[in-house]
Parts: sequence; C-alpha cells; structure tokens
Amino acid sequence: MRESWHEFFADSPDVLKTERCGQTVVPVRDFLIGADEFIIMAGPCSVETEAQLLATACHVRGSGARVLRGGAFKPRSSPYAFQGLGLQGLKLLARARQETGLAIVTEVMSEDDVPMVADYADILQIGSRNMENFSLLEAAARSGRPILLKRGMVATIADFLRSAQCVLANGNPNVILCERGIRTFETATRNTFDVAAIALLKQISHLPVIADPSHAAGRRQLVPALARIAVAAEADGLLVEVHPHPDTAWSDGDQTLDLPSFDAMLASLKPLIALRAPRQPQSLPERLELLEAVG
Ligand code: PEP
Ligand code: MN
Repeated sequence: MRESWHEFFADSPDVLKTERCGQTVVPVRDFLIGADEFIIMAGPCSVETEAQLLATACHVRGSGARVLRGGAFKPRSSPYAFQGLGLQGLKLLARARQETGLAIVTEVMSEDDVPMVADYADILQIGSRNMENFSLLEAAARSGRPILLKRGMVATIADFLRSAQCVLANGNPNVILCERGIRTFETATRNTFDVAAIALLKQISHLPVIADPSHAAGRRQLVPALARIAVAAEADGLLVEVHPHPDTAWSDGDQTLDLPSFDAMLASLKPLIALRAPRQPQSLPERLELLEAVG
C-alpha cells in the first residue's frame, strides 16, 4: 500500500487497507461477501407483482445467485413514474426469501423507513442519489444490517469513500461498495462504467466491491460485456437487473436482462471467475481491531 493513497484519502482512514489488514468479509445468511465466492445479486429493478418476483427469484436461485434484488421504494427521476410498492413490496421480498432461501437487498430512501426496511431486508441498499445523505447513512449504519453503498452518479472516489467511512464511524463495519457508473459527457450509454474505480478500490480498500453493470450501461446488450470486465477488474460480485419480461418491466426495462440472457451471461463469466485470485480474509483479531476502531 503506497503511503500516498493514505494521504489522498486521508478523510477515510478506516476503509483503507493497511499492511496488517486483510479483506473485509461480510456475512449474510449462509454465505460471505468479499471472500472467495463471486457473489451474484440479481432481480428486477422494482418489485411489481408476486408472480413476477417469485418467477425471477426461483430462476436466479437455480442459476446460482445468492441475493435477490428488487426495489420497494424507488428513487425515480420523474415524480410521475412508478414509485414502488412500499411495504407491500417488502412483504413480497420476504415471501420470495422464504420460498427460495435467497438473501434480500433492497433500497431504503428515508431515515424514517430504516427500521421497517431493516425488518425485511438482509442488506440495506443506499442508492446513488442518497450516497451523501449523511443522516440516512447514519440511521442505516445503526440498524446493524450490512450496507450496500452505491456510488453517487457525480461522486469522486474520495467522496464515495467518505460515505463508507461515515457508515463505519457509526459502528457498522459491514459495508459493500457498489460501482454503478458515473455521469460524464457521454450520452450513448446511461452512465460511464468506471472500471478503474473498481480496480483502484480493490487495491486501496479492504471493503468488498460489487459492480452494477445494469445502471452503468442502461442498455441490456452491453450488460454481459461490462459484467465480464468487472470480474477482470477484481470485483467481488455483481448486482444485475433481471426480469421474466423486461419489455413490460415497470422500471428500467431497457437495461434489464431476460432469464435466458442472464444464464448466458453467467456462463460467459465462468472461465473468468475461475481465474480470480484467492481473497485473503481478515483474521478474527483483525476484525475485532476494526470493530474497536469504528467504535
Ligand atoms: C437501483 O439499483 O435500483 C437503483 C435505483 O440504482 P442507483 O441508485 O444506482 O441509480
Ligand atoms: Mn433500476
């Protein structure tokens, strides 16, 4: 670890690797994020109906996913777009977990909703638009649930790490970083997938890094290639939008894979996943030391 990165990211000391500090491993149900297994999180952009969610969940479970994604509270750019099913959506996610054993990741948008969402979710997602909502980060951290922190669409890596530091500083060491593309002058894709951020984060931080090729690309045809690039950049897993009928999805259909395309993408990832270097997880004393540091 070069001393200069510690200076560059001096505001976020606890998220940076040190000589003595191994990879953070986040335990969720019966698996680990940040360890040797490449973790697939998949599901629709929004929870729509029981049939839609269960069909997706059963399929992705059969294909090897560990986590079901699905938004019950949706941060939409237009106030007239579908805003999510709210509590009813959370209940459908819990039902899908019961049926499949998949863990649930879902977004929490408001500080007031944290206790309710934490009751249903295994992992709380903080969306791109809320990455710097520090009161939400604090409340989410204090729920004790692992936090999937999405990079703000105009956040630098230093901004991103400051938000992760905020979660750690509020007593929660279980942070998963998620690169989902950033705004640039390019408009042909929804965002610009910042693959260098993944490679850099893996070098400087001990936190697991997940890639979201769906929101990065905005177009489903690009998702498998970006997913393969994410594996090569050393990501610890993927967050991917999948739907039985993407063209009728209530949100983000253009970037959503159908079930056969999801399977084809996973098949194409297999040889790359086999080439990944083994992770060096934190030992118990290291983990205890980190917990002490974050208070
Ligand atoms: C999502 O994952 O559903 C989402 C809204 O993503 P982002 O916050 O990255 O836009
Ligand atoms: Mn989406």
